[in-house]
Amino acid sequence: MTTASGSGAALTSPTRLRKIDVLREKNIGQYIPLPQLVAVGDQSSGKSSLLESITGIPFPRGQELCTRYATQITHRRDDFERIDVSIIPGPHASPEHREKLKSFHCQFQSNKELLGEFPTLLNKVNKAMQIRTNDNPEGVHTFSEDVLKIEKCGPSEDYLTVIDVPGIFRATAEGITAKDRDLVKNMVKRYIKDDRTIILAVVPANVDVATQEILELAKEYDTTGDRTLGVLTKPDTVKEKSQKMSVCNLVLGHRMPLTLGYFIVRNRGGDDEETQVDFTDREKMFLDDPWSTLPRDRIGVLALRERLQELLGQITDKAFPKLLSEIRGLFNEAVKKWEALGPSRNSERKQQTYLMKVVTKFQEFVRDALAANYSHDDAFNNPDLRLITTILNVTANFNREFASLSHSHSFKAFGKDVRCDPTSSVLEIKPKVIATLADPEVELTGDETCCVPDGAFDEYPELLDFVVTDWEVEAPEGDIMEWIGKMRRESRGVELGTFSSTMFASAFREQSQKWRGMTESYISRIILVIHRFVHRALEFACPDVRMNERLRSMIMDGLLERYHGGLKHALMLVAVEREKRPYTWSGVYSHNVQGSRGQRIADSLASKARLEHGRTSKVVVDHNLISTAITNRGNVDFEKEEIHDTLAAYYNVARKRFVDNIWHQAVDHTLLSGPTSPLGLLSEQWVMTLDNGQLEIIAGELPSVIKTREALGKRILDLKEAMAILR
Ligand code: GDP
Ligand code: MG
Repeated sequence: MTTASGSGAALTSPTRLRKIDVLREKNIGQYIPLPQLVAVGDQSSGKSSLLESITGIPFPRGQELCTRYATQITHRRDDFERIDVSIIPGPHASPEHREKLKSFHCQFQSNKELLGEFPTLLNKVNKAMQIRTNDNPEGVHTFSEDVLKIEKCGPSEDYLTVIDVPGIFRATAEGITAKDRDLVKNMVKRYIKDDRTIILAVVPANVDVATQEILELAKEYDTTGDRTLGVLTKPDTVKEKSQKMSVCNLVLGHRMPLTLGYFIVRNRGGDDEETQVDFTDREKMFLDDPWSTLPRDRIGVLALRERLQELLGQITDKAFPKLLSEIRGLFNEAVKKWEALGPSRNSERKQQTYLMKVVTKFQEFVRDALAANYSHDDAFNNPDLRLITTILNVTANFNREFASLSHSHSFKAFGKDVRCDPTSSVLEIKPKVIATLADPEVELTGDETCCVPDGAFDEYPELLDFVVTDWEVEAPEGDIMEWIGKMRRESRGVELGTFSSTMFASAFREQSQKWRGMTESYISRIILVIHRFVHRALEFACPDVRMNERLRSMIMDGLLERYHGGLKHALMLVAVEREKRPYTWSGVYSHNVQGSRGQRIADSLASKARLEHGRTSKVVVDHNLISTAITNRGNVDFEKEEIHDTLAAYYNVARKRFVDNIWHQAVDHTLLSGPTSPLGLLSEQWVMTLDNGQLEIIAGELPSVIKTREALGKRILDLKEAMAILR
């Protein structure tokens, strides 16, 4: 018996073709297009019959209108002759369906046995793929994406794989809906769109090629025509001479030319014997006119088969070098996705372990962020994570602002310098450069920007209930002496020489009116910076978006409470400074008061100073002038100056003490590093307090995620195997 199988020309690259077939067998074709031959064409154009002719495997033809699934015929060199039949699950098959198909397997010793068993076999296939037919009424599909795989093994087999897809049909025939039609068309498109597919466009010789949709479709996807081969079937049914000539003109390229040209093949007809797989007898017709005038390499199964192997070899050689790198790319991508999902969390133990990992990572961020240890993790390139630096910048700003703006009335600048200009020997009297309240340690202008831009709170509406978002501060008012005079007039008691402590306390309270507002706004900014850090650090520690959201909402109340704790502490410090009797143990206070008094004496003597020339020149005043130096003021002025100097000295001490306390207690201790810090909330101890239900809510997985992980796991294994095969 002469069949095409085993009699083709030597292949271009048998090892490569075999490797591609192994990949196909491992179903790698679902991840990456593999070089393949696909027969497409109208329904009943003779696709299945053509494949039977090419492969020598008796093929189900004319089955119930048309084939309901793709069939892949593979040849494999093996010591023993046999035919293996199995099913490759379609790309969208569920895991259960896949599992079921795995167990489908039949083996036949010869074509004859296969032929005898075909009807039963096809029934079994319909059942396995759940296709509805008369014999399988409980089926649910009209078409299936699963692929029937028929593998012919034997010592003389060549590596040739051909795929038969369902035919494109025009009219919606009985039991076939428009939806089915689209499904089949899409299936065909999916097979022919890849440039590693050789399209066998099957067209019956007895119809007008112009009516064949498949040629249009092929042109659409194979624009250069490098991989579309026309195959004309049923030449025996063409009776008229003119029609025969028209077919010859196609083959000769005179009509509707294709880059790869047309072949002409006579398959087994409906009336031919079932066992008549041999094509020699049938091809005798090509000896007659006008077929005999056609080039021999365009006629018959052998010529076609030879050409197909050549084309497949070419396309494989072209694809091969890229395959490994493409598969490696897919593999890396899958691994990345799989890692992003994190380990499986289907038990409460796994959930707890995973949550612990997240929390540990979060605490690592906190530790590094508080120590300004930013080199540990690339995540710190994100400025939101550079916590302590931002906090210090915000605080430096606050300190500066507080020194220059926190008092309601500007203290009076006084003090004179008496200097001798060495060139003219004349005395100069100039006001001192430094204002009384200027604090040499606080630079009044700084270069740190506020670090908290306008609108920064928009992202966190949960904070708006208790933070201050408007932090404009009014400048202090000008004439302090007038204010002191007014206060004295309104609240003086019968006290000679000095003023009462109640008057002092109320003066201080008025002078420190802005403290509360400024402090609230400072702490608000600190809370925002911390809150933003918590969000960002959580995003890095827990990339699973859904879990991240749940975790955040679980700790939100606790966080807000702790932020509130910081704010409360700060306001308590404001109250202590402003409501309590003003007092200090600091020697700086008396030093400042005495400094002011001394300065006033020096100021009033400035005009009486003279230059005395000796060995060195000196500025001197008469000693007896000192006792009368400041007796020239009335009670009122004297008292006002006393009030001013005392208030200024005390304000200075209290302000510094206050800023230090706010930083140490409210910010550093309460909000950053103490036991009630919001940064310490998300801890391992906290995870231990969660019950199973809470663990499930936070760390449990959606069924879809579980499925994705499984699918990715399989993909990774498959692709790994594919890389091993290709190496
Ligand atoms: P498919 O739907 O494209 O797979 O078409 P089939 O292979 O099932 O063929 C449809 C019908 O045409 C079957 O009855 C075949 O026997 C018949 N047929 C296919 N090729 C030829 C051929 O070259 N000559 C003759 N006479 N009949 C053919
Ligand atoms: Mg068919």
